[in-house]
Amino acid sequence: MIVCKFGGSSLADAEQIKKSCAIILDDCERKIMVVSAPGVRKNVLPDIKMTDLLIALVHERESGYDGTKERKALAERIQGIAYGLTLPSCVANDLIDKLDTASAGIDAQDSSSKECVLAMGELISAHLVAAYFNIIGVDACVLDPRDAGLVLSYRSGITEILPETYDNLAHLALTQSIIVFPGFFGRTPNGDTITFSRGGSDITGAILAASTKARLYENWTDRDSVLAVNPELVEHALPLREMSYREMRELAYIGFSIIHPEALEPVIRTGIPIHIRNTNDPLATGTHIVAERTHIDGVLTGIAAADHFCTINLRRVLINQEIGILSRILSIFSELGINVHHVPTGIDSVSVVVKEDHFPLERELVLRHRLNSELGFDQVTVVRQLSIVMLVGEGMRDTVGVMSRATTAMAKEQISIEMVLLDYFEISMLFMMRHYEKQRAVLALYREFFENAHHLDASVPDHVTI
Ligand code: ASP
Repeated sequence: MIVCKFGGSSLADAEQIKKSCAIILDDCERKIMVVSAPGVRKNVLPDIKMTDLLIALVHERESGYDGTKERKALAERIQGIAYGLTLPSCVANDLIDKLDTASAGIDAQDSSSKECVLAMGELISAHLVAAYFNIIGVDACVLDPRDAGLVLSYRSGITEILPETYDNLAHLALTQSIIVFPGFFGRTPNGDTITFSRGGSDITGAILAASTKARLYENWTDRDSVLAVNPELVEHALPLREMSYREMRELAYIGFSIIHPEALEPVIRTGIPIHIRNTNDPLATGTHIVAERTHIDGVLTGIAAADHFCTINLRRVLINQEIGILSRILSIFSELGINVHHVPTGIDSVSVVVKEDHFPLERELVLRHRLNSELGFDQVTVVRQLSIVMLVGEGMRDTVGVMSRATTAMAKEQISIEMVLLDYFEISMLFMMRHYEKQRAVLALYREFFENAHHLDASVPDHVTI
């Protein structure tokens, strides 16, 4: 069994839906098709994702307006796709009725009523896709995640998958007909509708792959492969053929939007490989994300970078001899709700790395006050507007001199490194620097590790495929 998830761009209009359905029919192992809501259309500028339209509709209704404009745009979108798929008009009318019923039920005090409307994008996609399969003579049906037993709960800002979900969905492994499964939502144990965070259909696909013990989880997008570095930072970056779950986790941490980060847990636990593929070019190689790499081409797999980090730096002579000081410092951060990313320490110093959005100036003032009054730190230095550039690769562990090459490449560019972190497992190496140095640093590192290494390794392709 192969579980396939199609993203919004793969279902944005009738033509894209036809391509996605053709992919399903091309391999009889592809029995479960998880669908996102219709995304942005290539030929409509500017366009809006159906989920964004639904969010706008919910806001309008909550604010006491009727949301006529949004409702009209949604109805037109549904009718346009149904028409393009040559579906009978009752299919679109039925879906518009369902949407009207859900939006009439919006109650500002009842989050489930709003979630029901947000879930409509995926539900609409699924019904349109299944209806299309049926008119071309293919046996397919929609399975609503709430009826199927995809049970979720909400804790500390994250939608958690309840364990019974996997048992509830396991029997789908035996399906003979194609199941079109809307992504992005499920139900709580009480039966209320609940959605994942944005991009959450990836998680639905991963849950189904794990539940059915699928051989493969295919994630169909609109790109040929994942690139070694963000193309906005380096033009013509190399495509990646393979990466490990661990590499993906590291790269996703700062900026690689490969797949929803929470989608990894179900597949990692079951060891199911992920294949990222392009609906617009099904013959392209794509990128495999696997438990263990079969071959490691080079020292690095990717370079990720992100802005808006900041460090809080504390210094006191003999701080490294004070038992429990780290825990007392970090308790204050936790009590103030500041998420701590890294805590590099020196002999007489401790630095705490946080994201700027968790650390507005008001919080900085409270933190300074508490660090001083409770722990006696009167000299606290805060450095804002820092960027992180991270080298990621399983190949680093067995290679000598990576740090030296990286720092030399950056030194040649006159880049001043503020902080360096390398963990025990040596899968990532992280450099902090002023935000205006990031672009040059990424370019220098890319040249050092990918372009210079290029001629040494014939297996690395020498052209860009997207
Ligand atoms: N439709 C949702 C979104 O736009 C979920 C998804 O596409 O995965 O975020």
